[in-house]
Amino acid sequence: MAETKVATTMFEPELETMPSSDLRALQSERLVAMVRYAYDNVPLYRRRFEEAGLTPDDIKGLDDLPKIPFTVKDDLRDHYPYGILAVPREEVVRFHASSGTTGKPTVVSYTARDLDTWSRMMARTYASAGTTKADLVQNIYGYGLFTGGLGFHYGAERLGATVLPTSTGNTKKQLMLMRDLQSTVVACTPSYAVFLAEAAVEEGYDPRNDFALRIGTFGAEPWSEEARQKLEAVFGIRAYDCYGMSELYGPGVAVECSEQNGLHIWSDEFLAETIDPETQEPLPPGELGEMVFTMLTREAMPLLRYRTRDLARIVWDECPCGRTHPRIMRISGRDDDMLIVGGVNVFPSQIEEVLMSVPELGDQYEIIVDRDLLDKLSVRVEVAPGQDWTSAPLAGKVAENLTAVLSIRALVELLEPGTIERSLGKARRVIDLRTS
Ligand code: ADP
Ligand code: ZN
Repeated sequence: MAETKVATTMFEPELETMPSSDLRALQSERLVAMVRYAYDNVPLYRRRFEEAGLTPDDIKGLDDLPKIPFTVKDDLRDHYPYGILAVPREEVVRFHASSGTTGKPTVVSYTARDLDTWSRMMARTYASAGTTKADLVQNIYGYGLFTGGLGFHYGAERLGATVLPTSTGNTKKQLMLMRDLQSTVVACTPSYAVFLAEAAVEEGYDPRNDFALRIGTFGAEPWSEEARQKLEAVFGIRAYDCYGMSELYGPGVAVECSEQNGLHIWSDEFLAETIDPETQEPLPPGELGEMVFTMLTREAMPLLRYRTRDLARIVWDECPCGRTHPRIMRISGRDDDMLIVGGVNVFPSQIEEVLMSVPELGDQYEIIVDRDLLDKLSVRVEVAPGQDWTSAPLAGKVAENLTAVLSIRALVELLEPGTIERSLGKARRVIDLRTS
């Protein structure tokens, strides 16, 4: 479907298309005010500024951004349970918390104005993917502490669309409601979308004809171009990548437009830069680095130069859609997702790209790293329905393709379809068995 151009829709056209020089000026003005606000209201920031020999008066505009000390995830964890609060607890109207696979979760907070801003950013996100008031959004992101559910919920309502808040789980019921109510937009993680496609066929649906889906808003985890093509083909939709994180409200930080070529960062609210993760020096636009965000109007929990650990390139080129906000060209994965196997850097996303480009393979896979004397990389992958999982030539071909891309040897095990456990939220694809 990617070849058919679609007209772009905007929720706040004036802000989304403002000349970049005006956008820069707005960022500059907001940055100065935010630094003053954070310094006056959060002891952590005051202390960091004092340690760096700075006062808010030293930050006169965007050029002074590199002077501002970084904030990291541990700063939020260290302030458990309430996190970095700039307002009295009574002013907070909602908390969310990130999953926190190890240790305590990171709690994030919102004032009424913060929730309003977040909903607007989410409404822009839906509109950027082509959603209108006429759409029926089936929201399969988890409702609760995770920001995905309520973020996609309130954004759809703000846009004026209809929401079907199914949350995660119960795949058969998801499919039944999707058909019976004729949902036109599906919002979920890309790994669940892949599972949904598979389950639909198993349950006897013809996804292109029984469902009325036209748009997918997928995010919260990395996914490949190959996965996009599969999802678009199976459901007859256009699939859009959405990026966000709990610390930055949740989803709705950046999203693709009709061009499907990079994710616009809503830069009147999020000031983005990239740095070299080693030297921490800012990088010029277009270079791959760690994304660092400053929230420009956040009330409850200001974040100055927050290090995301996510690696990407950010460009300020013009986009044919008319939006002037810079784009994230590709999220290469997290700094801490990167595996080092036998001294070689391996991103799980590279492995997914290879697997998805082999038509005989299915969509479910697992990456296992282990160590005998040397590091070993194994990939367990299901074959597509009807394919032979005992085929040695197929396993050999996949191993060869992986070696060509990764520059290290990978062992490949083919599995019968349905072997690997499906995830409802973010997929856990990597199993690292090394002890040190
Ligand atoms: P948790 O911390 O609970 O897992 P978050 O939703 O805050 O939940 O996770 C945010 C992280 O998810 C980001 O830092 C990024 O690594 C990943 N992520 C979110 N959206 C995308 C996306 N579209 N592409 C790649 N990674 C993403
Ligand atoms: Zn665009």
